[in-house]
Amino acid sequence: DYGTRPQRLLVVLRRIQQVCHHVPRPAQQVVAEAFGLPLAQVEGVIEFYHFLHTRPRGDYEIYFSDCVIDAFQGFEALMQRLCGRLGVGPGQCRADGRVSVDTTACTGLCDQGPALLVNGLPLGRLTPARIDAIAERIEAAVPVAEWPPEWFEVAANFRQPDKVLGSAWQSGAGLRAALRRGAEWLLDELQASGLRGRGGAGFPTALKWKYCRQTPGAHYVVCNADEGEPGTFKDRELLRHHADQLFEGMTLAALVTGARQGFLYLRGEYQWLLPQLEEALRRRRREGLVGRNICALADFHFDIDIVVGAGAYICGEESALLNSIEGVRPHPRNRPPYPVTCGLWGQPTVVNNVESFAAAALVAARGGAWFAEVGTEKSKGTKVLSVSGDCDRPGIYEVPLGITVAEVLDLCGAGDTLGVQVGGPSGTFVHPPEYGRRIAYEDLGTGGSFMVFGTGRDLIDIVHRFARFFAHESCGFCTPCRVGTQLQLRLLEKVRRGWATAGDIQELEQLRAILAASHCGLGHTAANPVQTTLARCPERYRKVLRDLEFSPGFDLDAALEAARQLTGRFGDHLSQE
Ligand code: SF4
Repeated sequence: DYGTRPQRLLVVLRRIQQVCHHVPRPAQQVVAEAFGLPLAQVEGVIEFYHFLHTRPRGDYEIYFSDCVIDAFQGFEALMQRLCGRLGVGPGQCRADGRVSVDTTACTGLCDQGPALLVNGLPLGRLTPARIDAIAERIEAAVPVAEWPPEWFEVAANFRQPDKVLGSAWQSGAGLRAALRRGAEWLLDELQASGLRGRGGAGFPTALKWKYCRQTPGAHYVVCNADEGEPGTFKDRELLRHHADQLFEGMTLAALVTGARQGFLYLRGEYQWLLPQLEEALRRRRREGLVGRNICALADFHFDIDIVVGAGAYICGEESALLNSIEGVRPHPRNRPPYPVTCGLWGQPTVVNNVESFAAAALVAARGGAWFAEVGTEKSKGTKVLSVSGDCDRPGIYEVPLGITVAEVLDLCGAGDTLGVQVGGPSGTFVHPPEYGRRIAYEDLGTGGSFMVFGTGRDLIDIVHRFARFFAHESCGFCTPCRVGTQLQLRLLEKVRRGWATAGDIQELEQLRAILAASHCGLGHTAANPVQTTLARCPERYRKVLRDLEFSPGFDLDAALEAARQLTGRFGDHLSQE
């Protein structure tokens, strides 16, 4: 059904997982043979991804989102409740194979959590009553397709649309304008628009497309729809409501670079969006806007293939994403060379994210000056933010770049706040004295995550959860990150439990240098949550430190508690009484 081209490997493995609830050894061997790959490579790919397993999972495969926002909305108690009702432990599959319950870093539903995925379908706004109803249906073996459809409704939560989300859109308008005026005109318009990559790094889009165009080879266009940064969900709605705009942006990149093949890399958690994305592509093919002879031109061919990921945060890093499409373990590559000159299968490749392509399509249709009407000198246009956490109106806000943190907090109805995490765990913690700072490349660059924390939240708990996220998502390829993220987590565990001393804080500060020697951005930014909170709120750390120069690293009294309960001896642990 799927063919055996390398970009189909993940699709095939996910399908086997879906049917067999794991990828059994004989299936691995068949796949290896069919794809002409060593068995070890197939095994390596399966082991890498969170949603692929070599041991059976349940008929009902459940993943709770354990993003910090879901945690503050109470997912842990809900997961315990479901586990209790079903008689299965977190991370386990029940002995009869009926159900498995696990966590995943983020399901992209932070604006309507707590949330879970059941057999790949999203279920948000969980309550204890809903959990009980889910447990009943699982015990009664009711197929997920027969569960109440309203459980699976996902609200768009478009709170403030602007240029990208709110402009009238006519399919093909940008493409026809670019075909009339030429690729050079389009590059000039993109240059005039000031559009920079919306993933957070901010590389100028016109330059990226131009460099790719200038490099000889069989060009590719890749859309990075693997927004895995906890607290980010704007792509969910861009993909649901603006897919045509996105595909047009990709086709424009093909027009500029001469690419004949494009890929949309969809994050595994958004697999439920696949049918409607495929339908949007089919519609564009029927309209002659993608595929062969686009706009009836004899020499303009460009088609798009959708590759669905399988739960690996690192695949949001563009070179890891390219490896994932190529069917190998998605470790990040050495850079340089950059994808524009040496990307997919070593060929020049444009990689942009969903928002960038959607904005580029509008620039082609309405001109660069229109897009650049708002923003700052160095950050033109608007930015789509995913706002979640302690505020009255979580959701998707398209704001002019240059807006202050305080203004965003006003928009979303935040009350008294401890701080805001801008850009997800790898971003920056901003506290109230800095709320005049701006969302812009020259100040707070962000891929879009904007997590609001009320004054009742525990800063150390937040940082500890971020550290756990990095330790879990480190791909293990390089030692500084593999070891550094684990050390950081262990130290923060001590801080959280109140066992840490000033020496531990010094170690945490020193870890920054170790992590800076990592191979890719994940390692480089893994120390950000500790460093940015230590710099701003040192008193919150000091408050929980033990007033000792040296600490044994654990709480002896707590460790002895179980033995005391058993023996009934409650005196001093050194006492013989
Ligand atoms: Fe992998 Fe971390 Fe090294 Fe990046 S920094 S290559 S995520 S181990």
